[in-house]
Amino acid sequence: MDSLERVSQEVISCVLCPLSVGRRKAVPGEGSSHAKVMIVGEAPGYNEDLQGKPFVGSAGQLLDELLRSIGIKRESVFITNIVKCRPPNNRPPRVLERKACRPYLVRQMDLVRPTIVCPMGNTALNDLMGRLPIGETHGKAMEKEGITYLPLYHPAAALYDVSLKNVLFVDFKALGLLLGIGGP
Ligand code: URA
Ligand code: SF4
Repeated sequence: MDSLERVSQEVISCVLCPLSVGRRKAVPGEGSSHAKVMIVGEAPGYNEDLQGKPFVGSAGQLLDELLRSIGIKRESVFITNIVKCRPPNNRPPRVLERKACRPYLVRQMDLVRPTIVCPMGNTALNDLMGRLPIGETHGKAMEKEGITYLPLYHPAAALYDVSLKNVLFVDFKALGLLLGIGGP
């Protein structure tokens, strides 16, 4: 039987795409196996590659703050990325790399069965939903194959453009409402 542990073990020793060459640690993702919410970023960065854990750098600190703002513990969601190994110089993952890595994400989604999936940033949004503009779709819930998708700006983008930070806090409120937390 498949399990999250098994997916992680396979990711850790995976050599299915060229990103395996430059990585220090693969980053399978982590969180609750019963998570209602799955957060999907783009790819591990410098700190994630060092630690083997998702969103532990400055973008991760903002993600923690955003989760806290609606009273959700990091451990109660599942956090992962489109590709599980760090691309050189943090370049966006290529189509071949995304395709090679896709089955791991599909298995994680099948195992966790989240009710809400949040693609964070354009890479995750395009990979999961097709070519939709993040600027028009962020914070808006969309149904696809029985799952609610809520696209969000990538927290790293908000570190460069501070106005996006407020947008993220507002969009997380929408996530809270979808989960029945908070309200007017
Ligand atoms: N950015 C991502 O997209 N994912 C991480 O895990 C860290 C930074
Ligand atoms: Fe394997 Fe994905 Fe890492 Fe490529 S990015 S080596 S497919 S785990």
